[in-house]
Amino acid sequence: MDWIRLTKSGKDLTGLKGRLIEVTEEELKKHNKKDDCWICIRGFVYNVSPYMEYHPGGEDELMRAAGSDGTDLFDQVHRWVNYESMLKECLVGRMAVKSAVPKDYHEEKKVLNGMLPKSQAADPLAKESPVSPSYDWFQTDSLVTIVIYTKQKDINLDAVIVDYQNDSFRAETIIKDYSYLIHIGLSHEIQEEFSVRIVENVGKIEIVLKKTENTSWTCLGHPLENHNLFIPKKDTGLYYRKCQLISKEDVTHDTKLFCLMLPPSTHLQVPIGQHVYLKLTITGTEIVKPYTPVSDSLLSEFKEPVLPNNKYIYFLIKIYPAGLFTPELDHLQIGDFVSISSPEGNFKISQFQELEDLFLLAAGTGFTPMIKILNYALTNIPTLRKVKLMFFNKTEDDIIWRSQLEKLAFKDKRFDIEFVLSAPTSEWNGKQGHISPALLSEFLKRSLDKSKVLICICGPMPFTEQGIRLLHDLNFSKDEIHSFTA
Ligand code: FAD
Ligand code: NAP
Repeated sequence: MDWIRLTKSGKDLTGLKGRLIEVTEEELKKHNKKDDCWICIRGFVYNVSPYMEYHPGGEDELMRAAGSDGTDLFDQVHRWVNYESMLKECLVGRMAVKSAVPKDYHEEKKVLNGMLPKSQAADPLAKESPVSPSYDWFQTDSLVTIVIYTKQKDINLDAVIVDYQNDSFRAETIIKDYSYLIHIGLSHEIQEEFSVRIVENVGKIEIVLKKTENTSWTCLGHPLENHNLFIPKKDTGLYYRKCQLISKEDVTHDTKLFCLMLPPSTHLQVPIGQHVYLKLTITGTEIVKPYTPVSDSLLSEFKEPVLPNNKYIYFLIKIYPAGLFTPELDHLQIGDFVSISSPEGNFKISQFQELEDLFLLAAGTGFTPMIKILNYALTNIPTLRKVKLMFFNKTEDDIIWRSQLEKLAFKDKRFDIEFVLSAPTSEWNGKQGHISPALLSEFLKRSLDKSKVLICICGPMPFTEQGIRLLHDLNFSKDEIHSFTA
C-alpha cells in the first residue's frame, strides 16, 4: 500500500519529468546502481530505484537485473506479477530494437525478449514439442461447431478454456506445456452459452455455438492476436475473465470459503493441483495474487472433471488484516466482481499412476491444493492403499475443515490425519512443534517395502523448502516429491 501511495503522489519516479525515451543497450547498462537502477522487462525499461525498498524479495534480488534485461529472471520468480500496473510510474521508455535479423527463435528471444513477431512465436527448435493442433468449423441453421483436432489421445475437458467476450471468441487448448489458441472476432453474433465436448479417443474437441439468427455464415470471422498459434505456455500471457462473488462463509476465525461464478460465456475447469490468479484494482493499481481452487467441501464426491457445466469456483482464503489483497477481497459484497485468470501450475495427474501411498504435508492454507488431490486420489486411484495428511497449524482454531477431515478419516480407512500445532494451548495432547526429521520419519512409512509413493508439500515457502531438504535426507527421490509454489 505504501508503494501504491507513492506512485499516486505525483512524484517524478523516473527522473525524466514525464518524458518517455528510447533506451539503447549501452544506455541501459549504465544504470546499474541501487540509486540509479534501470531494468528492462519485455522490451520496456523501468527505473526501479524508487521501488527498491518496497520490493518483497529485497533490494539484492532486484539488483540481479540492474542495467540489463530482467525478463527471464522476472519470469522465473513471478511471471504473474502485474508489473506494468505496479511500475507504470517508473516507465522510462522502450528498448531501441536492434536492426540485426536474428537467425532463430532463441536468438530472437534474447534480443527482443517478449516482443516476438507473431509469425516467429512458435518454437520450432523444441525437440519434444507435441504436434501442433489444427481447427475447422461447420454449421447448421442454428449452430456453429468449431472443431479442434488436438492429435493427442488423452485429452480432458479441463484442457480447453473457452471465453466469448465483446464479440471476441477465444479457445485455448493446453497440450503438455504448450498452448494452442483460437482467437477470432466472430463474423456474426452468438448466444452467450455454448457447449464443449470431447471425443476422447480421437482427441477431438467440439465447441458448439448457438447462432442468434438462423443465417448462413460465409466465414467464421477475422483472426485476432496470436490466433492459430501453438507456443510454449510460458510464453503466453495470463488471460482473465470477470467473475461474480456468490457467497462468502466463515471457515475459521480468519479463513473464509469464497464462491465465485464464471460468466455464462466461459468454459474453464481448473485441473487438480493447479492455481489461478485473482485480480483486483486497489486504489487504481491492478494487484494479482495466486489462489488454489478447492471443492465446496471435503466430503462431496469427486465429480468435477465429468461435470460439463461447472460454473462455480471455490476458494479457501485466509484474510491477513495487514495484507494488501485479502482485506480488499474480504470487503467485496455479494454480486461484486473479481477477475480470475486461466489456470497455471505444474502438477500432473499422471503422478498418480499406479500410486500406492500418498503423503500430504500441509501448513496453514497450504492445505488448499491437498483438497482436490485427496478427493481425486481416494475416488480414482484403484492401486491406492494409504493416504496420510500431516497438517501443521499454529493453534486448534486455525485448522481448516477439521471436523470434515476427521469424518473422512472415519469413513475411509485408507485415510489418516495427523495435526501438528506450533503454538497449542496446554489442553492439546496431539503432536506439537514444526516440521522435523523425527516427525517425518515416523509419519512417512511405506505400506509395503517398495510401494510407489508420492509426497505433496505446501505451505509458507521456508516450510516447503525445509520439508524438501528433510525428504531428500530421508532418501525420497525428486520424482516422489511434489512441492506447490507459484
Ligand atoms: P500480503 O500483503 O502479502 O501480506 C501477508 C502477510 O505478510 C500480512 O500479515 C502482512 O502484514 C505481512 N507482510 C507483508 N509484507 C511484509 C513485510 N515486508 N514484512 C513483514 N511482514 C509483511 N492463500 C490462501 O489463503 N488460499 C489459497 O488457496 C492460496 N493459494 C496460493 C497458491 C499459490 C501458488 C501461492 C504462491 C500462494 C497462495 N496463497 C493462498 C497465498 C496468497 O497468494 C497471498 O500470498 C495471501 O493471500 C496474502 O496476500 P495479501 O496481499 O493479503 O497479504
Ligand atoms: P501459518 O498459519 O503462518 O503457518 C502454518 C504453520 O506452519 C504454523 O505451524 C507455522 O509455525 C508453520 N511454519 C511457518 N513458517 C515455518 C517455517 N519456516 N518452518 C517450519 N514451519 C513453519 O500459515 P499461513 O498464514 O496459512 O500461510 C500459508 C502459506 O502457504 C502462505 O505463505 C501461502 O502463500 C502458502 N500457500 C501456497 C500455496 C501454493 O500452491 N504454493 C497454496 C496455498 C498457500 P509458526 O507458529 O512458528 O509460525
